[in-house]
Amino acid sequence: MLLWNWPYFLYVALPIMVLGFIASSWVKQTYQRYSQVRNASGLPGVDVARRILAGAGLSDVTVQVVDGELSDNYDPRNKTLNLSRGVAGGTSVAAEAVVAHEIGHALQDHQGFFAMRIRSGLIPAANLGSQAGPLIVIAGLLLSIFTGSGFGFYVALAGLFLFAAVVLFQLVTTPVELDASRRALRLLAENGVIVPEEQEGARRMLRAAAFTYLTLLYYASLVFGNRRSD
Ligand SMILES: [Zn+2]
Repeated sequence: MLLWNWPYFLYVALPIMVLGFIASSWVKQTYQRYSQVRNASGLPGVDVARRILAGAGLSDVTVQVVDGELSDNYDPRNKTLNLSRGVAGGTSVAAEAVVAHEIGHALQDHQGFFAMRIRSGLIPAANLGSQAGPLIVIAGLLLSIFTGSGFGFYVALAGLFLFAAVVLFQLVTTPVELDASRRALRLLAENGVIVPEEQEGARRMLRAAAFTYLTLLYYASLVFGNRRSD
């Protein structure tokens, strides 16, 4: 196991951890900075959400408050906008930007945005791949070494495909996130939520919001890296 673990750690886990750490520090710093800046409308996140949803004609989207920090997300399966407590009650530039970003995803879903459909389709394979991909590859290799049959080779190949789904998922995620943030800035301006002086702060916050998934990836790599280093 050790022979396989070191290359995995050096070339896969370590770069993800370093990149993830830099990205997550940047996202958190930006979020904290703009959490201190009051928004011009004085509206808490949940009211910003209602105003933008109404303005964008997304009346079928339900707004819900959930636990956790930066746990905000849009769930296309039940058309629910999940807002973290801090964002739902916050009257800051950070809160309104996060709300608008997630509604950007709701709009992508509503319009059948192509990259988002691919991304949603890849979620099951990506989840399975990140958890079981490397193990399936090893199982396949061991199988072919010890039984000498061709079956093990195909098992290993299946594991590699699952792992490739994870990489593909990350590649598709970035344009989907940047697009959601672009839509968000437009939604904030069109629905009269932000004033021109607020534009630059909102833009910076939205740029960071597009990379929140790297924060999640970072924590996933820590869990995964730990599990693999035994
Ligand atoms: Zn997003």
